[in-house]
Amino acid sequence: MSSHELGQHWHSIIVGAGAAGLFCAGSFAAPKLVLEHNALPGKKLAVTGGGKCNFTNIYVSASDYVSRQKHFCKSALSAFKPQDFIRLLEEQKIPFYEKEAGQLFAYQAKEIVSLLDKRARRQNTTFSYNTQVLSVAQDKNGFKVQTSKGIFYTENLVIATGGLSYPALGAGGFSAQAARSFNIDVVEQRPALVGLRAPEPVRTICKTLAGNSMTAQVKVGKHLQTGQLLFTHDGFSGPVILQSSLFWQEGEKIFINFLPTINVETFLKENKNSPDLFSKILSSFLPVKFTKNWLAHSDVCAANAKKESLLEAAKKINCFEFIPSGTAGFTRAEVTAGGADCAAFNPTTFEHKKISGLFFIGEALDVAGRLGGYNLHWAWASAHACAKALQKK
Ligand SMILES: Cc1cc2nc3c(=O)[nH]c(=O)nc-3n(C[C@H](O)[C@H](O)[C@H](O)COP(=O)(O)OP(=O)(O)OC[C@H]3O[C@@H](n4cnc5c(N)ncnc54)[C@H](O)[C@@H]3O)c2cc1C
Repeated sequence: MSSHELGQHWHSIIVGAGAAGLFCAGSFAAPKLVLEHNALPGKKLAVTGGGKCNFTNIYVSASDYVSRQKHFCKSALSAFKPQDFIRLLEEQKIPFYEKEAGQLFAYQAKEIVSLLDKRARRQNTTFSYNTQVLSVAQDKNGFKVQTSKGIFYTENLVIATGGLSYPALGAGGFSAQAARSFNIDVVEQRPALVGLRAPEPVRTICKTLAGNSMTAQVKVGKHLQTGQLLFTHDGFSGPVILQSSLFWQEGEKIFINFLPTINVETFLKENKNSPDLFSKILSSFLPVKFTKNWLAHSDVCAANAKKESLLEAAKKINCFEFIPSGTAGFTRAEVTAGGADCAAFNPTTFEHKKISGLFFIGEALDVAGRLGGYNLHWAWASAHACAKALQKK
């Protein structure tokens, strides 16, 4: 960074060279500076989707997102479709494939980072890496940005510093700090798309079953999801649990149906004269290792079982209820729910309703999507809307 650039009054400064910041920088032509505290762009983006980047979902809609402002994301999503991002990849001959349920993956996430980096450079972008933004404030001609490398001035300021998930990749509390410094309400931030911890004695059983997975139906409030559930050393994970965690609030009950296709009570009653244990009777539907451990003392011989034992066994399988003791935390969460309250922003431009030239995009905002490419699509769609507005300034 030259002293000239330090003294310069920029058209736009974007804080954060993650998914949203990079995409925004490449989507409008005015000269801009991107400040990033990592040594390189898109550090998180490069590991998304297990290194293959689930970059969008062809079925994306507003109902795939959780936010205090339910309708906020509609306008940006209708102005930027999955096809718009696909076109970019096709133009650059970057191959991709559909994994399941509309989830589109690249073969190498790094190809997407490189594409966005080059695209931004072609659009008048100067990057300053290893530059931590410490504070931002309004200034007489726009904004003053205090960084570890000095003070920068800009007419327009875009906060694209993401949420709290995966601090090892650069995440931190800056988005919330910046929001508060402009008197923007911050919706409580919590880890989402994350494993859930089980209380004892369930935790010990989960530990015994750790590494095993099965199809299950999980209900949190009015949200019912079916998919793979994975037992972990301290509870549950796998896609169905990650999806459910998006809707789970601390202290709330969760219901798991380990055999959604069968009414276990009816089935066990039909076999009430069998000399076999419940685990054996259910073995054509469920692995015996699971049923033996899960039912524990309720795994009794059907012919001798009291009605209460049968009902207890059926409930443990068809409607197991518990209150998670917590989540696996921000270090393991794919996304942060909560963030800067969208009510402060114009949903078409992402500009603050009262502070001209101030924009928040991506995960910095209180918008979190389901598992399956929705969060990156939000990063692209919000960045696109913001860039269109900046282009006109
Ligand atoms: C392991 C993992 C896998 C994921 N896989 C997928 C997937 O396959 N599909 C999907 O849709 N979503 C996925 N996500 C979620 C997705 O990556 C995020 O929602 C998305 O990256 C958010 O984009 P963003 O630009 O808002 O934030 P980020 O991509 O997090 O970028 C924020 C940037 O700001 C920088 N920054 C922060 N504070 C400062 C500061 N004070 N000064 C300077 N720079 C700062 C950070 O270093 C970072 O580069 C995954 C998340 C994780 C953690």
